[in-house]
Amino acid sequence: MQYVYLDNAATTPVDIEVVKAMEPYYKEKFANPSAVYTIAQEVKRDIEDAREKIAKFLNCSSSEIVFTGGGTEADNLAIKGIAFANQDKGKHIITSSIEHHAVLNTCKYLESAGFSVTYLPVDKYGMVDISDFKKAIRKDTILASIMYANNEIGTIEPIKELAQIAKENDIYFHTDAVQAAGKIKLNVKDLGVDLLSISAHKFYGPKGTGALYVRKGTKIYPVIHGGHHEKNRRAGTENVAGIIGMGKAAELSMEFLSDVSNIKRIKNLRDKLEKEIMDRIPDVIVNGPPEKRIDNVLNICIKYIEGESMLIHLDFEGICASSGSACTSGSLEPSHVLLAIGLSHEVAHGSIRFSFGKYNTEEDVKKVIEVLPGIVEKLRNMSPFWKEKMKGVRNGYSRID
Ligand code: PLP
Repeated sequence: MQYVYLDNAATTPVDIEVVKAMEPYYKEKFANPSAVYTIAQEVKRDIEDAREKIAKFLNCSSSEIVFTGGGTEADNLAIKGIAFANQDKGKHIITSSIEHHAVLNTCKYLESAGFSVTYLPVDKYGMVDISDFKKAIRKDTILASIMYANNEIGTIEPIKELAQIAKENDIYFHTDAVQAAGKIKLNVKDLGVDLLSISAHKFYGPKGTGALYVRKGTKIYPVIHGGHHEKNRRAGTENVAGIIGMGKAAELSMEFLSDVSNIKRIKNLRDKLEKEIMDRIPDVIVNGPPEKRIDNVLNICIKYIEGESMLIHLDFEGICASSGSACTSGSLEPSHVLLAIGLSHEVAHGSIRFSFGKYNTEEDVKKVIEVLPGIVEKLRNMSPFWKEKMKGVRNGYSRID
């Protein structure tokens, strides 16, 4: 079956050029890069080439790149690594209430290990307030971790300003740039951050491969102990093919971003879908800021129905999207991000996220527009809340907004 893939924030298809670059490392270039013989040393050199590419992608020196097993591990290394290495200076960490669970649950773990964490609130667009950040800083604050772009609603946080404040207060600053990579040009020098996480599978690279930028001079402990790989910052035989693939993906991503028409095309598709949905379906709200939002994400709440049911109906039509709910022990918990921006549980349950990528076309938007209004109508006709609302409309005490 032909399908329309609109879940690029969850993962992206691996670029065929990336697959080609990785292939030799499953075949003739299989040697362990730690070995002394020539073929192994060649593999080691190829890893260092890939490190150079990632350094270029982030605008830093290659010695500041630590390869990890993905974005979650990079976040863990940044947060636990800084916390444990600097606890003699203090045990307080600042983060936001809309971080990915890779950050939130790492912070929760640190709370159980005796650290204290401030979870900053956000406004209705998911934006962290700079003055809240200033107020949260304490004498014992050692680290702040604020995401660059939110994975559910796309909010782009004011990282440069926040990192500057952290620097003035002698606090390490980490940003989870997993969703920003591939959509926004990354420049750690310009941002002024000490640590930044990326994950290859969000920019057409392989899964299970990521990197952490660690500014030179940063005091950090490893979280995975073993051999002396990655200059003692991350033990374990390197995921060679993954690293090579991520290097290639970074190179392709830089090429893609160097021509602004590429990202503009994606934005136009996203904006078109947003407009068509808003024009055709009543009682829909768009989540995330109108301007400071990554160009590929459209998160909406369709009132009076559940996101999960919509996803299933869209899937019947061959459309892949996401909802903000996570099925936990049989009960559907609404997304912590949507609750943090002030939505009620009921409205948050109706959320659906469409996320675009470089392979999407106008046809994909057309297909969603063709089927979504019908799905919504069908589901609303089964919804007691919608029926109640329509009764109100007929009796003149409510309106469709
Ligand atoms: N951080 C953000 C913002 C993400 O969106 C994700 C993945 O969805 C992660 C971290 C985790 O990355 P990975 O899937 O590589 O572990």
